Amino acid sequence: MNILVINCGSSSVKAAVIDGSSGNRLLTMKIERLLDEHPIIHFSDKEEPISCPSSGHENALRFALPLIKEHLGDHELHGVGHRVVHGGDKFDQPIKITNEIEKAIEDLSSLAPLHNPVNLLGIRIAEEVFEDLPHVAVFDTSFHQTMPKRAIQYALPKHLREKYGLRRYGFHGTSHNYVADMAAAHLKTDIQNLRIITCHLGNGCSITAVEYGRSVETSMGMTPLEGLVMGTRSGDVDAGILVYIAKEEGMKMKAINKMLNKESGLKGLSGVGNDMRDIIQRSTEGDDDCRLAIQVFAHRLRKYIGAYAAVMGGVDAIVFTGGIGENSPVIRHRTTQRLDFLGAVLDEDLNHDLKLSTEQPVAEFSAPHSRTKLLAVRTDEQFAIAQETVRIVEEQTKVNTVPTIPIAVSGRHIHLTQEVVDVLFGEGYELTEKAPLSQPGQFAANERVTLVGPKNQIERVRILGPCRSKNQVEISRTDEFFLGVDAPVRASGHIQNSAGIKLVGPEGEVTLKEGVICAWRHIHMTPEDAKIFEVNDKDIVEVEVIHGTRPLTFGNVLVRVSPKYKLEMHIDTDEANAAELPRHSEGVLIDTDGTAKLVKRKLKH
Ligand code: AMP
Repeated sequence: MNILVINCGSSSVKAAVIDGSSGNRLLTMKIERLLDEHPIIHFSDKEEPISCPSSGHENALRFALPLIKEHLGDHELHGVGHRVVHGGDKFDQPIKITNEIEKAIEDLSSLAPLHNPVNLLGIRIAEEVFEDLPHVAVFDTSFHQTMPKRAIQYALPKHLREKYGLRRYGFHGTSHNYVADMAAAHLKTDIQNLRIITCHLGNGCSITAVEYGRSVETSMGMTPLEGLVMGTRSGDVDAGILVYIAKEEGMKMKAINKMLNKESGLKGLSGVGNDMRDIIQRSTEGDDDCRLAIQVFAHRLRKYIGAYAAVMGGVDAIVFTGGIGENSPVIRHRTTQRLDFLGAVLDEDLNHDLKLSTEQPVAEFSAPHSRTKLLAVRTDEQFAIAQETVRIVEEQTKVNTVPTIPIAVSGRHIHLTQEVVDVLFGEGYELTEKAPLSQPGQFAANERVTLVGPKNQIERVRILGPCRSKNQVEISRTDEFFLGVDAPVRASGHIQNSAGIKLVGPEGEVTLKEGVICAWRHIHMTPEDAKIFEVNDKDIVEVEVIHGTRPLTFGNVLVRVSPKYKLEMHIDTDEANAAELPRHSEGVLIDTDGTAKLVKRKLKH
């Protein structure tokens, strides 16, 4: 697929048409000096820049985007991927843009006033110009949505945190995610077995702890100002300083904001500007301020690397990326020397000679025996956005052509015979309905009992009605360990030789000899559904979750067909937690052509 990737920023617009599988550019376009009378447009396939007839983002985009169509000639476009800076806590992955999504991006503008409004403007104009194409939003923040609560909280008063959504979000997520994946591929190790620290050192700088594929800490916070020393941003400062200089200098908030974002960082330290190349050059010529700028920059970074290794309880690879990380042996050297205590041993020659290119986007600069690998990785946020756009467009096509299956999480529960109900609740007792269940005729009862295992007991376990001909207790693996019973994974109804357990109700107790199972993940469906999915009762199939936070397939799913059922897949709480499924997820039966894939195996019982 050819994807147009648009990064509509506050001072420039960058766009590229990218082959979503190879990363090859069909063309690139840049609009600069947006606020000049005539913004300038550069196309990669043209030497001469084009002058835009009128000023501002909107005019420039309306003029430039149709030119992309012209420049593409016969090449077809399949989707448009938009970089969006702030996704707040609403977006934990890229998403197809609809009116609702646009509204949500707009609502998040207060968190990123310089970025989200222009990102949205880019989206709206591109939707007019490329009206038949799917548009996808890829958020800088979404990769960090996996950070645990302890990492995102500021120690500020609760009412303010809640009122204004004050918390850490993190940025550069697309880049951190991309380079962590590249590092794992280079190391030929599943990312789920790696603890990686990724250092994105460009004009903006941030560092992330990627633990087994998930961001668990990152240095930027609610805004991109927190953390490392950057080109013109200060990174961490004692907030008390702001109060102090506001008072002493009589500075207003706007001026403080400008000072922190535009006049600090390398620029503020060196006094010569934000370009690391100049600063390194001048430091070699004896400029003390530039030397200090490099020292502070590298020291802050080392400090964070140590902290993030501690956060993850170790580190397998440290990755350098961004203009500085990819190109500066000096900064890599200063940061990673004497990291032997973390198992990272720098190889001076490899570091010095390192050159990244399209052909070699990853290079190691640690010594061969270094337990922790030091890597430089070429980041490519545009390609990452194109890849995500392809994924969402393909997913969407699948959703539109293949029937989907709602996935429900089934908590621990009990089915009882009337005989046992009599003992537990009193002779002739009838279960009372609390709420109907999705499967017709079934209900969650108000009544609950205690499960007593050899090790522990679990109280208030819900009974499902109506009564059945056999007693059956369905628990998760975690429950099984907690109770101390050995429950087999079985299809509902297959309780022969399963584990026993004691049930305690308000009026009496019963010890079941068998009936405790871990329910085999299954799909309920009607014979009509079975025809659509081309499956039969007791087939074993694979289901791909299509709205989960990450790509996920459940293998070994049992199909149960009955006219009494309603289409729904049931998994237990352990599985849902492990898979981090959102509350409403859906799946599709997978096969290469999008239709049902059957593992040729039948249920034995
Ligand atoms: P980016 O935002 O990723 O384009 O990175 C921009 C930063 O990378 C600027 O501070 C540049 O000075 C820096 N940079 C680019 N090349 C080098 C280099 N060879 N050595 C040091 N810094 C570099």
